[in-house]
Amino acid sequence: MYALFDLDDTVHDKKQSLYACARSIYSKFLDDRINADEFVKAFVSENCIIQPKVDVFKTLGVKFGIDSEIESKMLMYFDESFQNYSKRFYGVLECMEYLKNEGVKMACVTNGRNFFQRNKITALGLDTFFDVIVTSGELDVKKPDPFIFNVALEKLGAKAEESVFVGDNLKADMEPAKNLGMNTIWVSADTKSKPEFVDFKLSSFSEFVGIWQAITSS
Ligand SMILES: [Mg+2]
Repeated sequence: MYALFDLDDTVHDKKQSLYACARSIYSKFLDDRINADEFVKAFVSENCIIQPKVDVFKTLGVKFGIDSEIESKMLMYFDESFQNYSKRFYGVLECMEYLKNEGVKMACVTNGRNFFQRNKITALGLDTFFDVIVTSGELDVKKPDPFIFNVALEKLGAKAEESVFVGDNLKADMEPAKNLGMNTIWVSADTKSKPEFVDFKLSSFSEFVGIWQAITSS
């Protein structure tokens, strides 16, 4: 069995990382003419919208009256150092170590700019676990396009049926992975719903090994 992982909001705790980075950007570039809590809140929510990072900083610039020179310095700092604030979800490393010890080949399939996603993977200490990393930035194709999944499977030398996709996004991760014939694990705090293209739901990585064993023994 092969294991493929999404990055952001699956193994990377993006929200916590954004909060930490926002506080640092505030203290580096801004002062108390701008309310710190309001800035942090807006920074996190703009970065959670799928849009070019230039637009994130433009919106923040307009909202808080930040001059354009500071605005571009903030963007440059974000691009260069966001990985330093990146945090893993609890239990991720232990799961990767378990899979590695089991001889399982692993891939990361992520939407985002190539250098940005790869810097995060390295900073999270996960680069040594992934045999294959595929980013939408380098392929110029985003999930849910099946092409990006197929590139990862091909590089792993895996068939879809022998693979498990772990992701948080139903539209971008779960549905296309299931349509290709993969097993699916949905990282979600939602305890109520489970769409038919989700095989297992995981609310904490402490549940991962049990789910993995259920998949591999069936
Ligand atoms: Mg995600």
